[in-house]
Amino acid sequence: MLGVSRDATDEEIKKAFRKLAFQYHPDHNRNGDAEARFKEVNEAYQVISDPEKRAAYDRYGHGAGDGLFGRGFEGFEFTGFGDIFDAFFGGGTTGPARRGPQRGTDINYDVPISFEEAAFGCEKEINIQRTEACETCSGTGAAPGKEPIRCPNCNGSGQVRRVQQSIFGRFTNIAVCPQCHGEGRVIRDPCPECRGSGREEKRRRISVKIPAGVDSGTQVRIRGGGDAGTRGGPSGDLYVSLAVSPHDLFVREGDDVHYELAVNFAQAALGTEVEVPTLDGPSKLKIPAGSQTDTVFKIKHKGIPHLHGRGRGDQFVRMHVETPDSLSKKQRQLLQELAETFEPAAEKKKKQK
Ligand code: ZN
Repeated sequence: MLGVSRDATDEEIKKAFRKLAFQYHPDHNRNGDAEARFKEVNEAYQVISDPEKRAAYDRYGHGAGDGLFGRGFEGFEFTGFGDIFDAFFGGGTTGPARRGPQRGTDINYDVPISFEEAAFGCEKEINIQRTEACETCSGTGAAPGKEPIRCPNCNGSGQVRRVQQSIFGRFTNIAVCPQCHGEGRVIRDPCPECRGSGREEKRRRISVKIPAGVDSGTQVRIRGGGDAGTRGGPSGDLYVSLAVSPHDLFVREGDDVHYELAVNFAQAALGTEVEVPTLDGPSKLKIPAGSQTDTVFKIKHKGIPHLHGRGRGDQFVRMHVETPDSLSKKQRQLLQELAETFEPAAEKKKKQK
């Protein structure tokens, strides 16, 4: 049933089951026989994956044990039993909901990008695996040239009505047609490629445009880039979640960029013009004479472009004065001469008062 040998490993069995369950699951496969096949596959897997049941099966063969038909597992909800439930308890007043088109699942994909790519935008190639409509049958599940036919069981209505006799009297019971699962159509000649599921797994390289100004946590949505829908439902979306790597020189705060600049004592005292790096390349910055450590200078419009709207943030340059930790003989001599011209800092404070 599962197409595995007697000495197959657990992993091989699991893999074979997943593949078949996906193929015959009533949610994916509109073929009239799919549900029965799904039940068989389900049963086979339960037997083979349970050591006790497997031993019983090996001894007594098919039908060993009781209650082999399990309710959904491995993430599959086996809805076929809902129909049986409806047949017993679903009243004649409210019919079961016809199973309509279902939107495909959204896919999330994490993409790391650099600080500059986030600032100015970029184009990224990503490689995703997703479910698409089968190319051979365009998602109909029917063999090329064939089309799904009207379900002979419900005559295309998707529902079956039964008059039932109960201790409360006669009543009409309406249930989802078990053959077409409420769709009204069944596939007589399933597509050989997807075996009637109308879907196939595909690997795709997709080029994603990342706009300027994104930050970590920004999601770029590609409408319809997710898994294909079922029963004619729309595809889900693809979300590209961005993680921006830190920069060697800059720290981002919103759309502003912060930079630390070191100057020496002479530059701070006499004033100077320095070159500071910005996202657009080196930019000149004037340090006025007598600038104190921790002074912050603003370079307008050199920050990150605003993601929504125009313009950009600013760059802030925090200056700090570096005390030299080693001096040449000449420097020491000059500084000593200079020092004699200064009043001690404490004296100066007293005078100011
Ligand atoms: Zn197909």
